[in-house]
Amino acid sequence: MIKIERGSPPADTAMDRKRERVLRKIRELVGSGKSNSTKIKFNTLWSAPEVKDFLYESQLGKCCYCERNRDKKEFDVEHFRPKGKVKEAELNHPGYWWLAYDWENLLIACKTCNQKKSSHFPLKDEKNRAYLEDTDLGKEVPILINPLNENPELFIDYDVRETGLMVKAIGRCERGENTVNALTGINDRKVMEERKGKLEEYELIRRLLRNGGNELYSAAIEFMRKYVSPTSEFSGFAKFYFRREGCLQ
Ligand SMILES: [Zn+2]
Repeated sequence: MIKIERGSPPADTAMDRKRERVLRKIRELVGSGKSNSTKIKFNTLWSAPEVKDFLYESQLGKCCYCERNRDKKEFDVEHFRPKGKVKEAELNHPGYWWLAYDWENLLIACKTCNQKKSSHFPLKDEKNRAYLEDTDLGKEVPILINPLNENPELFIDYDVRETGLMVKAIGRCERGENTVNALTGINDRKVMEERKGKLEEYELIRRLLRNGGNELYSAAIEFMRKYVSPTSEFSGFAKFYFRREGCLQ
């Protein structure tokens, strides 16, 4: 998991053009008091190709949580704050419906991560949860790391000795623990197997960096640079590994 560096989203997408009309209807329904989160029907504007293309490209074709590369069609658009029912909230919480089409709330995640995250959104202090559209979201402290506005590398690292290559929370912090174990597929068995495959490649490069001749050393440096580049799958893990081995500052 790495910080996502995203530029400005495209202007005037189908989502931008239709957002207000759809939200107005939901606002009326919620305002009437006749609705709860299960009754709101959303138009899936976030799935418009231009929206999904932007999210996919800005995340360099990788899942926002586990950092696996996938084909575009294998990704789901993920709402960081759930648009509908929130599992941890009181039953009368309407969901964060007003963020359904908000670029800042949209990410793309692999199906494994998206299914695990589902409609979970736990907060450090439930009494600060926003129920209304104009509530200050800054009061909420989610127990889930948001890779769009914070650096996950400050919260998580890796236990390479474990055969499963577990990701773990630095200092066992609650936000890190929840992110890697409860709310995403980062420590899913299949994801760990894929990470383990990468570790074998990294170990080969590390050996070349230590013992290779001049020519091999230069090639190994190039490989290492490629592995730690944000464009590569599991680059957060690669950075952790090569730093730990003293190959990278
Ligand atoms: Zn994932």
